[in-house]
Amino acid sequence: MATGLKNALRTIQTHRDLSPHYAELLDILEEILILREEYRSRMRGEIFPVDEKLIAAKMAGGFPLVDFSSVTYDLAEPQAYFLALLEIAEKRAPGETGEMARKIREGEIIFNDLIHESFNAPPADEEALDNEEEASFDLVELFIEESLRPALETVSARYGDAVRKADWVEGYCPVCGREPKIGEIRDEEGSRYLFCNQCGFEWNYLRIKCPFCGNEEQQSLAYFTIEGDERYRVDVCNECKRYIKIVDFREAKQKADLDVEDIATLHLDMLANDEGYD
Ligand SMILES: [Zn+2]
Ligand SMILES: [Zn+2]
Repeated sequence: MATGLKNALRTIQTHRDLSPHYAELLDILEEILILREEYRSRMRGEIFPVDEKLIAAKMAGGFPLVDFSSVTYDLAEPQAYFLALLEIAEKRAPGETGEMARKIREGEIIFNDLIHESFNAPPADEEALDNEEEASFDLVELFIEESLRPALETVSARYGDAVRKADWVEGYCPVCGREPKIGEIRDEEGSRYLFCNQCGFEWNYLRIKCPFCGNEEQQSLAYFTIEGDERYRVDVCNECKRYIKIVDFREAKQKADLDVEDIATLHLDMLANDEGYD
């Protein structure tokens, strides 16, 4: 088993002990991470070709390396992974996701369309926010992002250094264009890094700036923490009413596993939603 996976599973176990109410979601995450490892090692060929000569220009122009809005990719491998992910949900609650898998297999639902739609998702349903957190947690949405992860990870591994050297100033991911949900404070200077769940890439971003609307007015940027735990906070923007979760493990001298932390901090999403941020 790869070291990364082993560490992640250990972190999951720690969270399971501390927050038993997240046990089910953490179990699901564990299954996802094991499956991710399997599909990563199975990857054949290059799904997302990148022209190295264009990287600097793309970065300067704000265009991610893999651009789902303008290029159609062959997503057969991500689709196979997505179908395997759906089985995780189907095993727990037979019905809906099995039906979705059938429709994809029979061509009633086009997988590529799901991916494209996921970049233009309508705002979260107000009603869903009032439900129990586990119920409002959309597994299919999570699986759609996750389905691209093994293939996109190879892109961020291969071109990550070139991306880091370029001048990327956007709040969305330079590798795949997805918006971040979580980030971390790192280094002695306390730089803020945003994390992309879809490809696993992390990029440096100004601390006093909203990743979603670019607002840099200090008066309309704020954050809140949960009393007693300064390791987690939520950065909010009162200009666009969006938020991002930020972890700061510098004091604990730990490296944060942001896949795990994103799941283990769903209470922060709930709080942010309650305060009117999305
Ligand atoms: Zn990304
Ligand atoms: Zn904003």
